[in-house]
Amino acid sequence: MPIMIKGRAVNQEFIRKIKEISGEDIYKCMQCGTCAAACPMRDMMEISPTRAIHLIHFGLMNQVKASNTVWLCASCHTCESRCPRGLDLPKVMEAIRLLTLRENEDYVVPFEIKKEEIRDLPPIAMVAAFRKHTA
Ligand code: SF4
Ligand code: SF4
Repeated sequence: MPIMIKGRAVNQEFIRKIKEISGEDIYKCMQCGTCAAACPMRDMMEISPTRAIHLIHFGLMNQVKASNTVWLCASCHTCESRCPRGLDLPKVMEAIRLLTLRENEDYVVPFEIKKEEIRDLPPIAMVAAFRKHTA
């Protein structure tokens, strides 16, 4: 029996895949907002970590995938250490990144990086970006 919200079936398959990859049950989240308050990247994220989970609860994963939130997550584990429900949010972020990359949707396109940026950015940052943001 699908979960219905406002007459629309929630995409359980995406949530099931997140759980399969991350081992985390996003329904543990009670939307307390602690992760968003503690996240050092929050000011640069288009959607807060708390809201990203909320949107996925409602089956609105395309809004999450279209935002920069999972890509800017630094996997610093601050949110996880403070979450009252013990949700490992960095693992969830990683799962969403993987599911997006598996659809060949790169967040960073190497050949579109400007020459000036290649010259100025530390090589280790470039390598890290390619590993995390390309399929
Ligand atoms: S801290 Fe945990 S329970 Fe609170 S909003 Fe974030 S993920 Fe959900
Ligand atoms: S792991 Fe990601 S979402 Fe969590 S506090 Fe760090 S940057 Fe924010």
